Amino acid sequence: MKGCRVFGCRKESYKTWANVPLCKEHYEDIKAETALYYHGKASMKISHEEREIFHSIAHEIPWARRTRV
Ligand SMILES: [Zn+2]
Repeated sequence: MKGCRVFGCRKESYKTWANVPLCKEHYEDIKAETALYYHGKASMKISHEEREIFHSIAHEIPWARRTRV
């Protein structure tokens, strides 16, 4: 199995997220990031552009929106 796909990360993959293998750390991070994006309260909420980990693996996700400016 391939390692974590986050740019610059060389750890072993732990689980896949949106079909992309991620290490445990990045897997937990993207889950938290996604929760903030979709369910964060107004003050905590992040925008699509602020989804750092998502964007670093977006090229691996066939259905991802690639709208980073
Ligand atoms: Zn990683």
